[in-house]
Amino acid sequence: MEERNHKMEKAGLSIPKILERNRLLVPYKLYQAKLDWKTIVGPQIAKYSYIQGFDESVVQVAVLNSVWMNQLFMYKKKIIKAINEYIKEPFVTDIRFVRSGRKPPAVTYANTAGEEEEGFAVRVGNARLSEETVRRIRQETAALPEAIQEKMAQLRFAQAKRQTAYQAAGVRQCPSCGRWLEKGEELCFLCRLRARQEKKKAVYATVMDMPWLTLDELKAYGMIGDEGRLYEELYNEVRRECIYKYMERIYHGCDTPEDDMMLALLITRRNPTEMTDAFIRNLTEKYRRKSDVSSHRRTEND
Ligand SMILES: [Zn+2]
Repeated sequence: MEERNHKMEKAGLSIPKILERNRLLVPYKLYQAKLDWKTIVGPQIAKYSYIQGFDESVVQVAVLNSVWMNQLFMYKKKIIKAINEYIKEPFVTDIRFVRSGRKPPAVTYANTAGEEEEGFAVRVGNARLSEETVRRIRQETAALPEAIQEKMAQLRFAQAKRQTAYQAAGVRQCPSCGRWLEKGEELCFLCRLRARQEKKKAVYATVMDMPWLTLDELKAYGMIGDEGRLYEELYNEVRRECIYKYMERIYHGCDTPEDDMMLALLITRRNPTEMTDAFIRNLTEKYRRKSDVSSHRRTEND
């Protein structure tokens, strides 16, 4: 055991080196900051903003509301300080505020005034329905109770108008769910997201089966697809999320020996036969909250 561990140290696998090489400590803390945004900036600011991502030491903060954009800009220095205090390192140097691009698509419930649609330059209000369509809708809503008849007819007119206007403008519908497509889209955003999620699940299962394999190895063995950059993205995403998940368990002291082994395999991508207990223990202790030591890792020496 001792000798093996010694050998691994010699091979350049000492713990600080692994962490440094994988540059995991700061990213992990930043990831925590992202989840804990509310604690850092307070509930009021957190309601209108979130951490969208990181570009080296620059934090990208998405703001949902332009009024808050100015407010947050004034607090910039304070927020940088708060983040650095949270991650316990003077890492963050700047914040870039962006209007959130991930805002859910704007929904217009009543569009009879003919206002411009967001995303499409289609003026629904200008669309004219054929007499045939109007008659058909009147007919189909005639059987409804009187109190809601007119409301439903108006709703159906608005729908038909939208349909007519979009079709006239050459806007196509998602072949899978019927949602209107943006320019250049083959599938709508939500259907694409769902397809991606399916692929991610498959990648997750593979990574969990053999966490020590690299992306190139998985591709070479034909275990994951080779679709442009998508699988590289999914592989990195899955790996990162798994690592964070196990770190979190260790941090909260609710990890099992299997969790620790998985984390060590994921981080080092060493073959499981190369893992010694001492090595795993050393690695995982880095992430453990000082005060608690997981019961299964407790030894007489502790
Ligand atoms: Zn769709």
